[in-house]
Amino acid sequence: MSQVIVVGGGAAGMMAAYASAASGHQVLLLEKNEKLGKKVYITGKGRCNVTNTADREQFFQNIVTNSKFLYSSIYQFDNQAMMSFLEEYGCPVKTERGGRVFPVSDHASDVTGAFCRALQEMYAEVRLHTEVTGLLFQETGREGTSDPAQKRRRICGVRLSNGEKLEADAVILACGGLSYPSTGSDGTGYQLASQAGHSVVPCVPALVPFEIKERWCKKLQGLSLKNVEIKLFLEEPRKEDRPHAERKPIYRGFGEMLFTHFGVSGPLILSASSYCSKRIAEGAHARLFLNLKPAMEEETLDKRLLRDFEENSHKAFKNALGGLFPSKLIPVMVELSGIDGEKKVYEITRQERLSFVKLIRNLPLTVTATRGFAEAVITQGGIPVMEVNPSTMESKICGGLYFAGEMLDIDALTGGYNLQLAWSTGHLAGTCIPF
Ligand SMILES: Cc1cc2nc3c(=O)[nH]c(=O)nc-3n(C[C@H](O)[C@H](O)[C@H](O)COP(=O)(O)OP(=O)(O)OC[C@H]3O[C@@H](n4cnc5c(N)ncnc54)[C@H](O)[C@@H]3O)c2cc1C
Repeated sequence: MSQVIVVGGGAAGMMAAYASAASGHQVLLLEKNEKLGKKVYITGKGRCNVTNTADREQFFQNIVTNSKFLYSSIYQFDNQAMMSFLEEYGCPVKTERGGRVFPVSDHASDVTGAFCRALQEMYAEVRLHTEVTGLLFQETGREGTSDPAQKRRRICGVRLSNGEKLEADAVILACGGLSYPSTGSDGTGYQLASQAGHSVVPCVPALVPFEIKERWCKKLQGLSLKNVEIKLFLEEPRKEDRPHAERKPIYRGFGEMLFTHFGVSGPLILSASSYCSKRIAEGAHARLFLNLKPAMEEETLDKRLLRDFEENSHKAFKNALGGLFPSKLIPVMVELSGIDGEKKVYEITRQERLSFVKLIRNLPLTVTATRGFAEAVITQGGIPVMEVNPSTMESKICGGLYFAGEMLDIDALTGGYNLQLAWSTGHLAGTCIPF
């Protein structure tokens, strides 16, 4: 039996503590907050989208960063295993649209409740209000060598903020990333990892709203659009001067979005951000093209517009668009079209109508920045996967040190995938600690 310390009582840490206690180790879970799983409580708008029923292939398609690194952990503890775990510990689950899995009760607190029962049943000790500020090491490696490269560090415990030292044979770091720092994930985990010699892939907020340059966006604040399509391009004029229509977008998606006082948000935008956050943080600008009527090809949309125009031929242009757009959007579309809103519909030229069709299918938005970590669902970046053994989650740099969850350089799209990565990596780390 090994003495195991798990640092961080979020999704990954709770699972790691449970899995290593269930494997027969003596486990101490340290969490600086007043309760376990503080972030879990706010996931899925308080309902906690615990995982997704997607099959393996689909599941890996939804992982944005370092999916190959995650093969072992997901094969070892997958979505079905997570659902069984929750059922076993008194939290039955249900599946909703898009394979999203939630507790039947719709209460995220029931997920944390299941973990509390599981940890108790496996005799894992939990210490709240306990912050780890340092790692303790012993030098191992070749006897008698004076060459530091021949030596390997091994972890032997942790130091707490009150100066107390706790011994351990293995330490699992599950401190989360930088997003929603009010929940406890404030980046101290990276500092601990760097004490052990690890580097950190620069962190950026992801699954995060965009700030938009166009002023008309603000006028649409609060407007939610369903069934729209976006195409996202990175602006690199020196490399690429072809028109957007001829280029391949870095992201193309269909769904729901929302206009806000600073720009755009909503599920579609959050997903798009995962494919460009790093580049935007490096200074690149991105352009979004919004297709308001993706179900219609250009020709079909033109016919539809023509029909609407025929039916409203004596009305002013600004009063003839009620069948096409929500009322808040009409003045903005009129302004962007360059057609006088007072112009009678019968006076609109074919050329004007065709350009309007193009505008409806390609409304341009310039992304100037992403919002910050306080509004980001996840962090991109973290402990480089090259420095961690994917079959065990053990550090390749420091013996006895393991990683789990968001502090690793892994991330996925929304839909329950990010929590499943925390469960899977936590479980693998917990079960791979030797006796
Ligand atoms: C608003 C929001 C909604 C989300 N909704 C979903 C969803 O529905 N489905 C989904 O799959 N994903 C969702 N996510 C993402 C998901 O919550 C995270 O990916 C997941 O919580 C990561 O788990 P973790 O254990 O790695 O990190 P965290 O949950 O951040 O846990 C880290 C823990 O470590 C503790 N800690 C840190 N440093 C120390 C230290 N030095 N000493 C002691 N303790 C420490 C922190 O206090 C914290 O409790 C959401 C995220 C947000 C912000």
